[in-house]
Amino acid sequence: MPGPHATVPAMSPFSHARPNILTGSPLDRASLRRDDDAWVDARRADPASLFLLLWRSESLVWDDAGVVRAALLSGAEAAALSESHDWAFLGLLGGDWPQGRAVFAVDLGSDEDKPPVLPRADLRFADLRSVAAMAEPSEAAVLGHARGLLHWRARHRFCGVCGGHCVPTSAGNTARCTQCGTSHFPRTDPAVIMLVERHGRVLLGHANRFPGNMYSTLAGFVEPGESLEEAVAREVREETGVLVGAVRYHSSQPWPFPASLMLGFHAEGLTEEITPEPGELRDARWFSRAELRDPDAAGIALPGRISIARRLIEDWMEQA
Ligand SMILES: [Zn+2]
Repeated sequence: MPGPHATVPAMSPFSHARPNILTGSPLDRASLRRDDDAWVDARRADPASLFLLLWRSESLVWDDAGVVRAALLSGAEAAALSESHDWAFLGLLGGDWPQGRAVFAVDLGSDEDKPPVLPRADLRFADLRSVAAMAEPSEAAVLGHARGLLHWRARHRFCGVCGGHCVPTSAGNTARCTQCGTSHFPRTDPAVIMLVERHGRVLLGHANRFPGNMYSTLAGFVEPGESLEEAVAREVREETGVLVGAVRYHSSQPWPFPASLMLGFHAEGLTEEITPEPGELRDARWFSRAELRDPDAAGIALPGRISIARRLIEDWMEQA
């Protein structure tokens, strides 16, 4: 019987030397099977299936000698906690069915007064954002998938067209309005994040919302009618006054806090003078590689290792 110690294997279909954290899910999303209600119902009742639980958007995990692992419960364990809650099919683990085991996410809701009674003492709920850096990488990706999908479900219970009630379809991966029939799909909000370089130095900012003395790459949401390159140039100009030339794609990272896709770029700075936008930034400066190699001496902190911002900075430092 699979318990919390039945865990997602470390294998990954991706071949990146250094994949971004929250990428590399080993699940086959099996999207062609999701619309087969009978198959999905049979998988929900299948004792081989695995269930990831979330409560108040926090993920159920356990600690394995310093590594945070996803807790994958059996259907019986999950049902004891989750009978009337939202769920979604995430995919198949270990190949196509019947070899692969179905993995579901279950939302226990957000009732702070009634925390779920957990079946085992070694389980706990944790904010993925704070534990992802310590998590087994492929499991962190699956937890991010679950968090993003269930967050969308919880925040889109009503139709944006007519205000009618929406019901889940496609095993919880889409929704349909019971009143006007409109189909609704999970939102992913594209955001550009960019490291701007000029003459061997890069532009980092301290946003008003940043803790301590952290400096990071600039970032912002893509707006309607805008290409990614245009969004990069606009955000940098608006936030710092610096003009941007060539823009080169680096990598991307799902960022389910709550619904972003971070699109990472390296960009060429055409001008040097910085005018921080006070509504966004408390400060912005150009930093050399030497300064970033010793951030303590420079009086700054770099963004956390979970973030693509850190990856953009580290890859640039390694280019020298
Ligand atoms: Zn509607």
